[in-house]
Amino acid sequence: MAEAVVDLSAVRNNVRTFRRLVPQGILAVVKADAFGHGAVPVARAAIEAGATWLGVARAEEALQLRAAGLTVPILTWLYDAAELMLLGGLDVDVSVSTIAELQRVVSNPSIHHVHLKLDTGLHRSGSAPDHWVELTRAAAHYEALGALTVRGIWSHLSHGDTPDALQSRKQLRLLRTGVALARRAGLQPTVVHLANSAGAITLDASDCNLVRVGAGLYGIDELGIGLRPAMRLVTKLAQVRRIRAGEGVSYGHDFVASHDTTVALVPLGYADGIPRVVAGKASVLCRGVRMPVIGRIAMDQFVVDAGDLPVEPGEPVTVFGDGSRGEPTCKDWADWAGTIPHEIYCGIGARVPRRYEETAR
Ligand SMILES: *Cc1c(COP(=O)(O)O)cnc(C)c1O
Repeated sequence: MAEAVVDLSAVRNNVRTFRRLVPQGILAVVKADAFGHGAVPVARAAIEAGATWLGVARAEEALQLRAAGLTVPILTWLYDAAELMLLGGLDVDVSVSTIAELQRVVSNPSIHHVHLKLDTGLHRSGSAPDHWVELTRAAAHYEALGALTVRGIWSHLSHGDTPDALQSRKQLRLLRTGVALARRAGLQPTVVHLANSAGAITLDASDCNLVRVGAGLYGIDELGIGLRPAMRLVTKLAQVRRIRAGEGVSYGHDFVASHDTTVALVPLGYADGIPRVVAGKASVLCRGVRMPVIGRIAMDQFVVDAGDLPVEPGEPVTVFGDGSRGEPTCKDWADWAGTIPHEIYCGIGARVPRRYEETAR
């Protein structure tokens, strides 16, 4: 009934927008099943539009991309020893932040390419600046033995989505120093990368030759650069009924009708990623009009108020889209839920099939 329709031409358009605006190469971040859009189709579309690298958080995600026949370089940055074993023979690059991780990689003959990660201020992962010289020297030692190749040096921004780039510039300076120290240790990284989608636009980082674009691929347009939302969440009205003034709707009767009205059942619930907290705020598009979500959102369904419109079961409903037909956007849902579009997209449940389309626009 419900579908998350992903427009792959929007993904391509968004990659091309970045290519026009930034000089660096594009590493397409397709972690978390491409923010719920489907990792393999999105990765293919991004590569067709000129992305040259793929990035994922977990080793399993890299495995899925290789199993689908994708051959471009892939970086993975969050794994444990067991997950590392999955990557045997797949030529996946892994991030390394500590000497212990470096040794783990060395003892795994199937990992060859590493990206040393410097913590420049996010304070999640990455080598503390105090340990960087030791890490780069150890890596150079293993490289000389032929045990691995340091292909990249990288870091991650703490304020990548804010227009005030002061912190980002400070992080860039630290990364620049880190790269200089790595070269002094004898390393010759071919890629240096720091910025995420928004940072790619706001930070003038000529010392970097890759940017890691996640949100932007999907049309999450934090800086208003003309990106197109790629996903549309649609379904069909499941049932329609007339209720009288004074009658309540859904669990607990949080909504009580003030006048006679037609209410319609939408077959999506919090198990499908519709956040419960949007009750009383959200609306959907049906018959070209916004119908407010009324009453509590249940696991599998919620109810909308159709007023006096003679709607019927089976009529199409747009929960969110790119907004061009008057429907809410994913950003609207995120605002209603007090979160970011990333979380809404990632929360669309496995029960909602993804369908792919190409629009000419
Ligand atoms: C998720 C992620 C990105 C992508 O960030 P966006 O803001 O979505 O573009 C880049 N780098 C790393 C390390 C990430 O975890």
